[in-house]
Amino acid sequence: TMACLTAMDAGDVLNAFVHKTPELALEQARAADARLAGGDAPSLCGIPVGVKDLFAVKGVPTQAGSNILRGFRPEYESTVTTKLWEAGAVCLGKLNMDEFAMGSSNESSCYGPAVNPWKVDDRRLTPGGSSGGSAAAVAADLCLAALGTDTGGSIRQPAAFCGITGIKPTYGRVSRWGIVAYASSLDQAGPMTRTVRDAAIMLGAISGHDAKDSTSAELAVPDFEAALTGDIRGKKIGIAREYRLDGMPTEIAALWDRGMEMMRDAGAEIVDISLPHAKYALPTYYIIAPAEASSNLARYDGVRYGHRAKLAQGDGITEMYEKTRAEGFGPEVQRRIMAGTYVLSAGFYDAYYNRARKVRALIKCDFEQAFAAGIDAILAPATPSSAFGLGEQGGADPVEMYLNDVFTVTLNLAGLPGIAVPVGLDAKGLPLGLQLIGRPWEEAELLNHAYVLE
Ligand code: GLN
Repeated sequence: TMACLTAMDAGDVLNAFVHKTPELALEQARAADARLAGGDAPSLCGIPVGVKDLFAVKGVPTQAGSNILRGFRPEYESTVTTKLWEAGAVCLGKLNMDEFAMGSSNESSCYGPAVNPWKVDDRRLTPGGSSGGSAAAVAADLCLAALGTDTGGSIRQPAAFCGITGIKPTYGRVSRWGIVAYASSLDQAGPMTRTVRDAAIMLGAISGHDAKDSTSAELAVPDFEAALTGDIRGKKIGIAREYRLDGMPTEIAALWDRGMEMMRDAGAEIVDISLPHAKYALPTYYIIAPAEASSNLARYDGVRYGHRAKLAQGDGITEMYEKTRAEGFGPEVQRRIMAGTYVLSAGFYDAYYNRARKVRALIKCDFEQAFAAGIDAILAPATPSSAFGLGEQGGADPVEMYLNDVFTVTLNLAGLPGIAVPVGLDAKGLPLGLQLIGRPWEEAELLNHAYVLE
């Protein structure tokens, strides 16, 4: 803990930690020492971790990267962080992220972006998003592990950009209670760690049914770490032809081939498959996620949480609401609220939102068919490129930024678990990651498949 507290201060240039909690860390570290001395050694005893700013940690600023939550200190603790502290983990502080988890570069954060610790030239590179602070902090050894959340790739894309491991569990495996909501039918929390083994241990600590989240599954939590045998002989690994995009960089194609080779060497069989509706995943996601977000974000009204705009003489409740939201939400969040409100409006509901829901069902069906045909896991790239420079994407056209999510959003729509693992460097020397997609509730097997790629 002391070493991490020092590293955290030295790592300020990365802008990864946005609120540090050294007093809490020392208090928890002492408690962990006492537990160890008493012969009690829970799975994360004394392990210093960072927490994405999206999780409510009691008494600690929780802003979701937004000005509208400035000054908000929750009176409650999220289920996931409660479980971490029960498992003996030590809280170092809150980690930078895109505002309300909307973004792929960390640039929509009200704190300014976190910076990728990997550096190959004069540029400052993005750590990815939205859990970019979490990925940067783990990659730079500021903490041993971090919590992220993944609605459309926000754990896996930053993990790939920073050369670490990140797993998005099956929807319902981890409780969403106490996590600031972005798109409730897609959001899941998960670990971001240096190794697959660390991810298995941390996932075990945060998983499980929670009566406070009606979508959390009443399933027993397997021993994820015990599943890491490296034995994948006879397993069938699917390669979806729809992921072989036109104009895919040769480096990404070569990385994918290398992943296939590694799995073949371990005794798995590589099988070509088709996910015919995968090409609709990105537009479907960018209808459903903003629709849910526009509803979830309606609660920031200047009364209940954080920021309230200064009002002029004669202003009423409508002006308070409008001014507060105009000041508090950044441009990307406002864009999502407008898009979401539009697709939910009476005249356009059937054309957009309802149609997207139907396509989502077809996307899910594609995966069900692949798994029913005996596929054990699907291997794909995690991102279409390595980390890009801050300020280099999405400036003129937000859709350019959305294209980063082309490999990651599909499985969120289907509720499936996915993991990103670092598998080498590109020609510039920047990390690249591969992604594995697993059957629902089979995170243990998924982690074991990923273990082979490590
Ligand atoms: N980049 C995607 C978005 O902006 C995914 C974000 C996420 O997974 N939270 O919506």
